[in-house]
Amino acid sequence: MSKGTINVSVDNIFPLIKKFLYSDHEIFLRELISNATDATVKLKYLTSIGEAKVDYGNPMIEIKIDKENKKLHIIDQGIGMTKDEIEKYINEIAFSGAEEFLEKYKDESGDDKGIIGHFGLGFYSAFMVAEKVEIISKSFKDEPAVHWECDGSPEYATEASDKTDRGTEIILHIAEDSLEFLEEARINELLVKYNKFMPIPIKFGMRTETLPKPEGAKEEDAAPTEEVDNIINNPSPAWTKQPADLNPDDYKSFYRELYPMQFEEPLFNIHLNVDYPFNLTGILYFPKMTNDMNSQKDKIQLYQNQVFVTDNVEGIVPEFLTMLRGVIDSPDIPLNVSRSYLQADGAVKKISSYITRKVADKLKSLFNSNREEFEQKWNDIKIVIEYGMLSEDKFYEKAQAFALFPTVDNTYFTIEELKEKIKPLQTDKDDKLVVLYASNKDEQHAYIDAAKEKGYEVLFLDSPIVSHLIQKLESTEENVVFVRVDGDHIDNLIKKDEEQISKLNEEEKKTLKTVLTEMIPQDKFTVQLEAMDSKANPFIITQPEFMRRMKEMQQSGGGGGMFGMGNMPDMYNLVVNTNNELIGEILSTKTAKKKERLVNQALDLARLSQNLLKGEELTTFIKRSFEMIK
Ligand code: ADP
Repeated sequence: MSKGTINVSVDNIFPLIKKFLYSDHEIFLRELISNATDATVKLKYLTSIGEAKVDYGNPMIEIKIDKENKKLHIIDQGIGMTKDEIEKYINEIAFSGAEEFLEKYKDESGDDKGIIGHFGLGFYSAFMVAEKVEIISKSFKDEPAVHWECDGSPEYATEASDKTDRGTEIILHIAEDSLEFLEEARINELLVKYNKFMPIPIKFGMRTETLPKPEGAKEEDAAPTEEVDNIINNPSPAWTKQPADLNPDDYKSFYRELYPMQFEEPLFNIHLNVDYPFNLTGILYFPKMTNDMNSQKDKIQLYQNQVFVTDNVEGIVPEFLTMLRGVIDSPDIPLNVSRSYLQADGAVKKISSYITRKVADKLKSLFNSNREEFEQKWNDIKIVIEYGMLSEDKFYEKAQAFALFPTVDNTYFTIEELKEKIKPLQTDKDDKLVVLYASNKDEQHAYIDAAKEKGYEVLFLDSPIVSHLIQKLESTEENVVFVRVDGDHIDNLIKKDEEQISKLNEEEKKTLKTVLTEMIPQDKFTVQLEAMDSKANPFIITQPEFMRRMKEMQQSGGGGGMFGMGNMPDMYNLVVNTNNELIGEILSTKTAKKKERLVNQALDLARLSQNLLKGEELTTFIKRSFEMIK
């Protein structure tokens, strides 16, 4: 037996390692399995170029729990290490790496620790959970096997081993405070989390497989079974294959592999595949989206060479795409840096804009190849697209080709089509296209109806971020204004060929105005007299578009606060149709009491259709209405 001291300046780095990465202890297994995988892949390479003259066979990696002796074994059939190599790679390099790592990161704190925690800690991460570690290794080279052990102090011991089969076995003597790693369920959880798609088969125990019944077996005969290796991973997941070798079902079944608890099928997928100027593969899926943006985050998984790293891809994928699902695999994403640094990293920026472009291109091609299908899916994907248009200018530009604006009757227009087809019908006095929209078909029903009656198209835009999007469209598209159907009164807004002639003369208008201003609360309503079609309602309540939008934007955060309207009062317009018969009646009614009753009743009906009548006012209205039909 030979003994030595690991060449480090710190007396004992292991307590430090343990303390430093307290929350992330579990990654030791990923690190050791990664080493085992690397050793196996290296051997494959060396045999393929004739450097190693051994039978590569079908190697696997095995994880074994020895609960009784409190040991965890990680066994591979890779290239192995000679005594010298252990001296060099483990005693020198690995441990100096550990020291360097601690030097560099021991002062890091707070949020930034997240991604650093995913940094490959390598072999020595074993000491986060083990009080003693053994390595028994037989190199593919014709040299004797070695047995190394270290108890966490800088002293180690090596001796000859009688191991004859090629490869490395790492034995962890699990420490008292880490006994959870001797539980089968815990190890299984970790294997599924980190190693589900690693390229070399990983065996964890055995499982029983049911075989087909032999011919002529009776109904009541039990099917024969067989004990087989329990392989926990899929060594060649879909994203590592060429798109041409996959069909739609392959993508769907890979989705189920990624999200076994997800029963809904994805709407479509995007296969990412670049090798220059950076390396990136992956598959992104568009799931059915709801309007709640935050609940859908953290579903994309980030891998490096098929090793799971994290499901928080913030900073790597543009924020609006974090609502998607799927896998990204890139060895080019630096993980040993803080998130803020990550966002400034050139390679990461390129990756992020590549992903944005790919998503936009895919949406465009889906739109072009089957518009009908795209329209059907629009409602389920619009939130991502609209959010993307708001947050990424490049995406906004590309989205002009496929972003849709549906009408309340489910006709879908692109922005260009809107300009082409609606413009002739709906322009304001400055010749700007007036786009009318509704955000709630039930609440704004009367207004939608009235607008359609006049022959106008009404869009249906119900996303929570719609006021922001409209604001953006108005600032980038020249000569387009959006107005909600119950916003500024459309007859005031849209240019008409012929003006309605008012049935009232100037004198009567003045009287009417006086009567109304006396009876209608001035702090809530601005009264506007308007000559409209006699069939249009006598009283109509609208809320100025600008005011409502500011309020909405304030509520959904950002943008609207600029006018400093902390608590804007709710002000409405009361548009009075002077051509409606009721107005004549209000004017001709003799008694003041009756006049007031008519005005109040008409006002309440108008409020009712805006969903503004509540509480005591609603009760009064109902009492009055019963009174009137008696
Ligand atoms: P890294 O894997 O980042 O190089 P590690 O500390 O994990 O750092 O390992 C140091 C070195 O030890 C590896 O580069 C490799 O040469 C060697 N090594 C570790 N584990 C194995 C193994 N299972 N089989 C063969 N060599 C190994």
